Amino acid sequence: MTNTINLKIKSKYIQEYQDKYPLIQKEIIENIDDLQEEGTIINLVTSNNKFIGKGYYGRQNKGYGWVLTYDKNESIDTKFFIKKIKESIEYRKSFYEEAEQNITTAFRVVNGEGDGLGGVTIDYFNGYYMITWYSLGIYTLKDMIIEALQNSVEYKGIYEKKRFDTKGQYVENESDFVSGKESPNPLIVRENNVNFAVYLDDGAMTGIFLDQKEVRKTIRDKYSNGKTMLNAFSYTGAFSIYSALGGSVKTTSVDLAKRSLPKTSEQFIVNDIDPKSQEIIVDDVFNYFKYAVKKQYKFDMVVLDPPSFARSKKITFSVSKDYVKLLKEAIQITNKNGVIVASTNSANFGMMKFRQFIEQAFKELNGRFKVLETYSLPKDFKVCNEFKEGDYLKVVFIKKLK
Ligand code: SAH
Repeated sequence: MTNTINLKIKSKYIQEYQDKYPLIQKEIIENIDDLQEEGTIINLVTSNNKFIGKGYYGRQNKGYGWVLTYDKNESIDTKFFIKKIKESIEYRKSFYEEAEQNITTAFRVVNGEGDGLGGVTIDYFNGYYMITWYSLGIYTLKDMIIEALQNSVEYKGIYEKKRFDTKGQYVENESDFVSGKESPNPLIVRENNVNFAVYLDDGAMTGIFLDQKEVRKTIRDKYSNGKTMLNAFSYTGAFSIYSALGGSVKTTSVDLAKRSLPKTSEQFIVNDIDPKSQEIIVDDVFNYFKYAVKKQYKFDMVVLDPPSFARSKKITFSVSKDYVKLLKEAIQITNKNGVIVASTNSANFGMMKFRQFIEQAFKELNGRFKVLETYSLPKDFKVCNEFKEGDYLKVVFIKKLK
C-alpha cells in the first residue's frame, strides 16, 4: 500500500489550487520536509486541514507531483485509473476509427495532465501501447496503471519508457517490454497514409514524434509539389518523407546524430522511395547553414525543428537564445516566395514571443515576410485550461517576401 500524507498549502497559493492548477510545486507547501518517498499519495489541504485536492509525490523537472482528483472520497486505485483511461479513450474515438481504416495507426491516448494524469503518457502504435513514466513517483504507481490499461483496451502488447532517473537521463540497456506479445522490429505504423518504421524497444525514443502529424500533412498536401526542401534537425526524416510524398523535387535532411542516416533511409524505403534520390547529411546544422550560405544554396522550403536545448561538441544551443540566429541563416538560404516552417517545442515561451523572434530575424536582414498559418498541438495531445504550459508546440509557416 502507498502512504498518504497531508501537505499544507501556503495561504497565498490556495486560490490557484482551488482553481485546479494541477502541478504541485515545492514553494507552495508549508511542510515540504514531510515528503519522503516518491509515490506517496498527497492530500493538499489548507492550514485548517480543509481538503483541496489529492495527488502524488513525483519529482520531475517541472515540480513535485500532480493533483489527480478534487474529490475527497475518491481513492487513487486501479478503479480510478480505469475511469481516467476510459475517458481518455472516449475523447479519442475518432482516432481509433481512423486506425480501423488504416489511415493513422499511431496517436496519443493519454496526454499526462491534459487528461488529468500528470506524469504519464500513453501512446498507441498499431495495436501496441507505449506508456512513458516521467517520474519515479508515477512509476511507483505503475502496477495499478498497467492493470487499468489492460482492463480498458484490447492490445497486442504493452511497452514502457522510463524518462527519469537522478540526472533526468534515460535509463538505457533495459528492455521496455511489459506484457502481451512482443512487437516486430520495426513495427510499421501509419500516419495520414504514410508508413513509419518505429522501434518500441530501442532506447529512449521510438523514431517518431506524434505531435507533428498535422504539420507533416500540411507540408505534404500544400507546400511540397515541385519544390526543393531542406529539413534541419531532421532526426528520422519525418518531414522529408512527407515532402517527398507530396511531390518535392528533392529533400535534404540534416542532423548531427550518425544514426539519423540509416534511420532516415529506412523511412524512405518503407514508403517506396529510393533514399539515393534524396540527400541525407550527418552534420551540425550550424555548420551546414554556414556552408550553404557561402555556397549560395537556395531552397523553396526550409523546415526548422530544433530541440529546445542541445549540446554539441562546440556549441550549446538554447532555443530562446539562438532561434533568431537560426532563422536568419534559414532566411538567407530560402528562395524569394519560399516557405520557412519554424517549429519549437519549448515550453519556456509562448506564441507571441516566438513570433517576435521571427519578426526580429527578418528585420535584422531587412527582409519581409507573411505568416501563412500556425499550428499547435493536435487533438490527441489534449491540453487542459488549468495548465496552459502543457501546450508547448508552436509551428509557424512563414512566406519569405523579400
Ligand atoms: N524534426 C524531427 C525531430 C527533431 S528532434 C522530426 O520531425 O522527427 C531534434 C534532433 O536534433 C535530434 O535528432 C538531434 O540529433 C538533432 N540535433 C541536435 N542538435 C543538433 C545540431 N546542432 N545540428 C544538427 N542536429 C542536431
